[in-house]
Amino acid sequence: MPPPARLAEFDAIIRRNEPLAPYTYLKLGGPAEMLVQPRSRDELSAVVRRCGEEGVPLRVLGSGCNMLVRDEGVGGAVLRLTEPAFCEVTVEGRRVRAGTGATVSALISETARRGLAGLETLVGIPGTVGGALRTNAGDNRGDIGQFVRQVEVLDSRGEVLVRERDELHFTDRSSNLDDPVLLSAEFDLDSDSTDAIVKRMRKAWILRKAALPLSFQSAGRVFKNPRGLVARELLEQAGLSRTRVGGAEVSDRDPNYIVVQEGGSSRDVLRLIDLMHSRVREKFNVDLEREMTVW
Ligand SMILES: Cc1cc2nc3c(=O)[nH]c(=O)nc-3n(C[C@H](O)[C@H](O)[C@H](O)COP(=O)(O)OP(=O)(O)OC[C@H]3O[C@@H](n4cnc5c(N)ncnc54)[C@H](O)[C@@H]3O)c2cc1C
Repeated sequence: MPPPARLAEFDAIIRRNEPLAPYTYLKLGGPAEMLVQPRSRDELSAVVRRCGEEGVPLRVLGSGCNMLVRDEGVGGAVLRLTEPAFCEVTVEGRRVRAGTGATVSALISETARRGLAGLETLVGIPGTVGGALRTNAGDNRGDIGQFVRQVEVLDSRGEVLVRERDELHFTDRSSNLDDPVLLSAEFDLDSDSTDAIVKRMRKAWILRKAALPLSFQSAGRVFKNPRGLVARELLEQAGLSRTRVGGAEVSDRDPNYIVVQEGGSSRDVLRLIDLMHSRVREKFNVDLEREMTVW
């Protein structure tokens, strides 16, 4: 008799050998051994605990906007927090609480509607609150980290812990939130009129859209800005615009984005990233650090 499947008691919420490409922005990559979509916080805690006990590697996928999944796929459990229990946004005074499965756009709409200002400069950044916290999403106009009051996380035994503001560090496109699962976050915002917030939101949206590659539906941002430098400028000066490997091409509008043509693979993207990295190192002696997560 074959041994029982891993995490067998959670079969109702597991899809085995599930292709991950449809769940990522680049629409690339192989399957997950198990795609797990818990329905409640208790169920999520139990899955995390069981993964620890069975030695099953555990990852969380947000909207996959900062993510490249390798063609061969990933072993272990990939969690998606898409059920209502993880996507709520609630407001109490100037304090907002959001589940990490909520989208950043849902969070911005709800806060703007309630006359709460701050997050509107993030408009147009695709992804979930969880992904935004992990990567400290934002740009030179502001980032999500500056408004965070506390973050609820799960440790590897599935226990809930609260990370307070004074233990959190948010830097350029990263944070020290490295717990296995981020559950929810509380933000402190300022009061303002909805009209004024919407006006700022429109302006931020126009600026962000103008900077994106034209075919941004299949594009991914690649590198972080090195201290005091701008990755896009280094890549441009290294002559990388429109460089192509297989079906992956450096965007001519912003060379820090890779655009994938039909038939492109994760392998093409990875080879192009290597090429971009080594050209910039040769020309400027700068080691660009990847922003995109690779599984
Ligand atoms: C067209 C385009 C434009 C973009 N513009 C910007 C921009 O202007 N500024 C910017 O900062 N970024 C930008 N990004 C990058 C991306 O949108 C952000 O990094 C976003 O916050 C990622 O969110 P996600 O839900 O898609 O996370 P994913 O890509 O799914 O995951 C990112 C990381 O977060 C982890 N993660 C996600 N959720 C959880 C959770 N609940 N618990 C634990 N770990 C979790 C994942 O494991 C992974 O390590 C852009 C991307 C694209 C494609």
